[in-house]
Amino acid sequence: MRLLVVEDDPDLNRQLVAALGEAGYVVDSAKDGEEGHFLGDTEPYDAVILDLGLPEMDGVTVLEKWRRDGRTMPVLILTARDRWSDKVAGFDAGADDYVAKPFYMEEVLARLRALLRRATGHASSELECGPVRVDTRSSRVTVNGRAIKLTSLEYRLLAYLMHHQGRVISRTELVEHLYDQDFDRDSNTIEVFVGRLRRKLGKDVIETVRGLGYRLAAPEDAV
Ligand code: CA
Repeated sequence: MRLLVVEDDPDLNRQLVAALGEAGYVVDSAKDGEEGHFLGDTEPYDAVILDLGLPEMDGVTVLEKWRRDGRTMPVLILTARDRWSDKVAGFDAGADDYVAKPFYMEEVLARLRALLRRATGHASSELECGPVRVDTRSSRVTVNGRAIKLTSLEYRLLAYLMHHQGRVISRTELVEHLYDQDFDRDSNTIEVFVGRLRRKLGKDVIETVRGLGYRLAAPEDAV
């Protein structure tokens, strides 16, 4: 899952990027509203954390422009405590949730997990597909109850496929959601990681759809 953080406070920006990276997300960041708007307009993020008080372009304007242009990714806004009018303006502009500053990082992470699973139609933080279970709170992966150790990229790949199970995902889409903007992207590496996941999870969990991409499907869903 690839996220965008738009926050002008350099310390807070750094802390958010570090905590989200540690939680297994790929993170791009911007320090003003204009750069943030541009990134959110041109890159396919799974969710955005958007501060409202930003230089160059304020957060509400950034969000309104995205929504007007049909950008539907979930957006979590950061508001100043006790500024109820900010929250109202943020929700009216198209925000999905908010956290008031100062906040505990754990709350931001929990709200993000909720936004990501709702955006992909899941009600629980445990994702299941056949014998494979992914607990998105602890990043724990099991196959038939047995714990499996994955590298961070293998986990990201599996988590993305699990969130979108049943749908065919192209290699290009995977590359766009698994790497940050500075990464030298090569969609051939995806094949290598799919191979490693198959070895760890079982051969049949990830299906190759020739010429289109990959699909994760529980055996009973497979057609
Ligand atoms: Ca600010």
